[in-house]
Amino acid sequence: MSFYSDLGLKPVINAATTFTALGGSLMPEEVLEAMRDAAGSFVDMHDLHLAAGKRLAELTRNDAAYATSGCAAALVLALLGIRSKGDPRVLREFPGRDLAPSEVIMHAAHRIPYDAAIAMSGVTIRQIGNIQQTFDWELEAAITEKTAAVLYVAGSHLPQVALPLSEVVRIAKSRGVPVIVDAAAQLPPMENLWHFTREAGADVAVFSGGKALRGPQASGLMVGNAEIIEAARQNGAPFQRWARAMKAGKEEVAGLVAAVERFINLDHAALHGQWLATVDAWREGLRGLDGVSPHAELLNEAGQPVPRLYVGMTDSGRAARALAELEGASPRVAVLPDLRNGTAHGFWIGPDLLQDGEAQIVQDAVRSAITN
Ligand SMILES: *Cc1c(COP(=O)(O)O)cnc(C)c1O
Repeated sequence: MSFYSDLGLKPVINAATTFTALGGSLMPEEVLEAMRDAAGSFVDMHDLHLAAGKRLAELTRNDAAYATSGCAAALVLALLGIRSKGDPRVLREFPGRDLAPSEVIMHAAHRIPYDAAIAMSGVTIRQIGNIQQTFDWELEAAITEKTAAVLYVAGSHLPQVALPLSEVVRIAKSRGVPVIVDAAAQLPPMENLWHFTREAGADVAVFSGGKALRGPQASGLMVGNAEIIEAARQNGAPFQRWARAMKAGKEEVAGLVAAVERFINLDHAALHGQWLATVDAWREGLRGLDGVSPHAELLNEAGQPVPRLYVGMTDSGRAARALAELEGASPRVAVLPDLRNGTAHGFWIGPDLLQDGEAQIVQDAVRSAITN
């Protein structure tokens, strides 16, 4: 904490979620140790990427894997890999619209604020469907010789009007078009590390290293098809090519490997039990307050099985004041506000990012904010 306070910054207790704007997540000791270890000596970065990729592939039961500087970077790199097939002539011609496919197909229901990563790889988005429905013929008709890939954003929190992934894979495969799954925040369950690529048939899946994996904030994981992953790697640092700006350093690579290894070996059921116990304790502790209805939810904001408490409030002025008070507190208690239609209805608090002793601080701060 002292580095932040030296800069005059307020500490934050994160009862919201793995927001990049709050620092993502906190690295456990094993991850910090791996980074410290890697920081202590030089290494051939090409060899490191290949060896770490091999280890990450084994850990995640995939054919191949690649450590990147974030999930958004992994999206850029996967698309550059697919477009260039690793061929330096295409890379030199970047954005090489004459030589490389220039469109990515996305469901309207999958448009997210991370779309900028797609433009950065030199392609445009061709949208299918709308926010109410999508037909399989729309995907069939959208595939042309310009199509680089279909980008499928995973998660039950999205409007459930996209084609099922299995249908997308079937149609895309039949036309020789690769499918990339953006699964940045789709952990847990741990099985998703191999589900999309090994079971659902996608060519590539990309994850944030700095969210539930608790790796370095600036790390990401790409898994899947070995040819695409090698072609992606050909675009990244230490090659002085198009994605050189998205460098994952030796420390990030080491931290990501340690984080994935730790995540795979976690007792996820026990962890889930602890989270449920915290949410139950919060619900008990916040019971019986006038105009406040706390209730447990089993899925987090990304639709994943991480329980949280929804603190609904009938008076929106009071809810807005409570949010302001939590934000102004020291330490600040970050929560996920419910601002539907621009009006404060309450907020969610989650147990998964808390340090020892913080659950009680969160409960006390919330109680004080909603009763003041
Ligand atoms: C967080 C997120 C990203 C970006 O991940 P970084 O690791 O921060 O680059 C991309 N897509 C989705 C769906 C996300 O939730």
